[in-house]
Parts: sequence; C-alpha cells; structure tokens
Amino acid sequence: MILLDKYAVFGHPIKHSKSPRIHKIFAEQTSQALEYIAQEVPAEQFSTAVDCFFSNGGKGLNCTIPLKELAWSYADLKTERAQLSKAVNTLAIQNDGSILGDNTDGIGLVTDLMRNHGLTLAGSKILILGAGGASRGIIAPIFEQSVASIVIANRTVDKALNLAAEFQHKGHINGCGFNDLGSQQFDLIINATSTSLSGQIPPLPRHLLANKGVCYDLAYSNEPTAFVRWGEENQALKSLDGLGMLVEQAAEAFFIWRGIRPETAPVIQLLNAERNS
Ligand code: NDP
Repeated sequence: MILLDKYAVFGHPIKHSKSPRIHKIFAEQTSQALEYIAQEVPAEQFSTAVDCFFSNGGKGLNCTIPLKELAWSYADLKTERAQLSKAVNTLAIQNDGSILGDNTDGIGLVTDLMRNHGLTLAGSKILILGAGGASRGIIAPIFEQSVASIVIANRTVDKALNLAAEFQHKGHINGCGFNDLGSQQFDLIINATSTSLSGQIPPLPRHLLANKGVCYDLAYSNEPTAFVRWGEENQALKSLDGLGMLVEQAAEAFFIWRGIRPETAPVIQLLNAERNS
C-alpha cells in the first residue's frame, strides 16, 4: 500500500477553493504521491486544527482568508518575505518538527505578470489599491523588480500611510487615500482590495492609467471582475485577474514542500478554458 503524504488548505469559507484541484494536477504531472484536501477552519479553531494536522503526519498546509495572520503567528520560523508581509499562506513541517512559514502570494503575482503575461516591471510606476494582507504580501516582491515607485491607496488612509512607512527601506513608496490620487498616472494598477468580491471598485479618478498601462485584479471569478471591467473601459493594454497568481503561488508552495517545480501553464490554460466554457 502506498502511503500518501498529506497536504491541505485551511480557510473559512473554503468550499469553492481551487487549490485541491491545482495540487492534484501538479502531483500527477510530477509523479508525487500526495493527497491535498480543503478543510473548513474558522479562526477560533485555527491552532487546534493545525496542531492536529501536523501531529497526524501532515506535511504542509496552505492558509487562506481569514487565517494568514494567524498562520504567521503560528510558524516557528519564517522566510524573509513572510516576516515582512506579516501573513503566511504556506506552512511546512521541517525534519526537526518545527514549522516553517512562507508567503508565496507576492512571488506568484510577479511570476504571473512577468512570465505568463510578458510584462516588464523595471522602471514602472505602480499603484496598489488596498492595504490589507494581500497588499502587504506583494510589496517586497514587486520592489525586487526594480520598479520606479509604489503608491498605496486605501479607504482607511492611516493603513496606507503605515504600510508605506513600513516598506520605506525597500524603495520609493507613499501611502494615500483614493481622493488624494489627483492627476497622477500609473503604468500598472493592482487591485488588492476585496471590493471585487461584492462586484464593486474603489472610487477612482479618471485618467489614472497611463497610456499602455495594465490593470491586475488579485481577485478572480468566472465572469470578468468589476476591476477587470474598469481596466477594459479605461483602455488598459491588458486587464487581468488573479487566476494566474493563484496557480503560481500554489506552484511555489508545491516547490517548498516537494522540491520540484510543476509546470503552471497547462494548469492555467485548463482553468481558463473551464471558466470560459
Ligand atoms: P483584507 O481583508 O486583508 O483587505 C481588504 C482590503 O480591501 C482593505 O484594504 C480594505 O480597506 C479594502 N476594502 C474592503 N472593502 C472596501 C470597500 N468597499 N471600498 C474600498 N476598499 C475596501 O483582504 P486581503 O488583502 O487578504 O485580500 C484582498 C483581495 O485579494 C481579495 O479579493 C482576495 O481574494 C485577493 N487575493 C487573491 C490571491 C490570489 O492568489 N489571486 C491571493 C491573496 C488575496 P480598509 O483597510 O479601509 O478596510
């Protein structure tokens, strides 16, 4: 009998997660004997559920809304990018039984933008809408691409200002409210608010997107999200959603756990074909 290594994604709600499907395809593609399930875990049950998972032989976990900050506190040791982002989406048990925490969201986004969509980030002026967990996770990996500057705009202005202050040492970064964006223009606008989940977008001034600028919504859905539609209406060169990021962050987690990089392009193609059918 083959014993399968156990992996899971914890979240609340988790029913519609695509992660089990993605990791099953990665495992088949790379001939890895593993199982990956989705488990409903409310925040108040997080540490008990994680203790139980690892003490029963679990090898690695993904954590999603609303558990990433709790996973950050849970991890015994953290990668630099996880340390900075104060949110962890990947936990891995080490040989000595300690738990490593990483955040693969930012590298997932950067890989999707650059490798899958052929974009160059170097020298770009970037606007990030939102100052929550996702925003925090993508700032350092974006700075690593030698961008010119990042502006963070958020409904709660103090959160944008504080986040910008925290990442000052990484590059040219400012925080503000949506109303303070004025006549600035950006090469890339990333929606890291959760507004798309309710079919809305933050209040944005006209002419915010530079000529040949690109829009990217971290959220994804079977229909174009409200922000993807905003990008199209504002003549974005490309207006993309976060499905590619989802697959890329999963591939990075798979690499952390198994030491093998799965091929992401066929998985993205498959998931795209399914939602267009
Ligand atoms: P958080 O709850 O941590 O942050 C939510 C952000 O949205 C805050 O900045 C909040 O502003 C803002 N916001 C919420 N409602 C409104 C509103 N009505 N008007 C304006 N701003 C609003 O969420 P996350 O950062 O974890 O997630 C953000 C998005 O990113 C989600 O859609 C999530 O699904 C997506 N995501 C996608 C991933 C992928 O792999 N594709 C990975 C990670 C996240 P305020 O501070 O004022 O409350």
